[in-house]
Amino acid sequence: MTHENHSILVVGSLAFDDLEMPSGTFEDVIGGAATYSSIAASVLAPVRLVGVVGADFPQPMLDELGKRGVDTTGVERQSGKTFRWRGRYSHDLASRETLDTQLNVFADFRPKIPAAFKGSPLVMLGNIHPALQLDVLKQVDRPQLVVADTMNFWIKGEPKALEELLPKIDLLVINDEEVRELAGIHNLRRAADDVRKRGPKALIVKRGEHGALLFDAQGVFFVPAFPLEDVRDPTGAGDSFAGGLLGYLASHDHTQTHAMRRAMFFASAMGSFCVEDIGPKRLLSITRRDLRARLDQFRAMVEYGGDLPFRD
Ligand code: AMP
Repeated sequence: MTHENHSILVVGSLAFDDLEMPSGTFEDVIGGAATYSSIAASVLAPVRLVGVVGADFPQPMLDELGKRGVDTTGVERQSGKTFRWRGRYSHDLASRETLDTQLNVFADFRPKIPAAFKGSPLVMLGNIHPALQLDVLKQVDRPQLVVADTMNFWIKGEPKALEELLPKIDLLVINDEEVRELAGIHNLRRAADDVRKRGPKALIVKRGEHGALLFDAQGVFFVPAFPLEDVRDPTGAGDSFAGGLLGYLASHDHTQTHAMRRAMFFASAMGSFCVEDIGPKRLLSITRRDLRARLDQFRAMVEYGGDLPFRD
């Protein structure tokens, strides 16, 4: 079956990241949630990116995105410095702390959706102030699917705006700590039910190296994370996961039953590529053939030889 690729509107941060890893410190690494999501999604579908960068952001990076099918006409360049985030990872890379956040040009970011982007059928609202996420939704014409990310900072600091956003999105993609905080409930299943009652029909809970859970009308679905021998940098894995998910949904009939379940494998595959090198380096190098190979590895990983025969 052929399916016309739909475009994905991605709104969020473009950044410089300074990463303190057990393997060393890496500074001025290109980052940002929208950067990771766009790169991952662009392997499968056309992307329209909206964000802001300062005078210091390298034009060759935007050109590279352009070559990959990411329309960057919605990326404003302002005088001043690009958003900068500094993080330090634990020895096992399982946790990290934010050492510094310099908003710079991102402080006054008010997403302006270009006229040519307003009809985008799929929308990814990256992790920005929920009032800005709402503002993006006011600017677009009836998208078919709206996906949003958020973080503890907004859950704690902007509960009202977030509550207003929840009924306006179709899918929320957050991590387990965040869903517990958003619901005020520790049990993941109950927390997910609570969040779904407040708006989004579907919720994905990311659990890092422990995979991800999808909660929707069909029940609960699980996709593992790909067990890699070497994990170098988990930065952006969650955003790459969301990009892979949207990339699949944009390039296939996303209204089909279980389309979201299938999309979870593309999402997890993109997350796994992301962590294989520092910053978006590995993600930028993958081909559709690499993706195919990893999907085959996923299939082999969950293949159990047919039924699970058992009689009571
Ligand atoms: P992730 O590892 O998926 O949570 O995403 C990390 C990316 O998010 C990094 O490249 C950062 O530049 C970016 N980031 C960190 N803090 C923020 C923030 N407060 N708002 C928007 N983007 C951020």
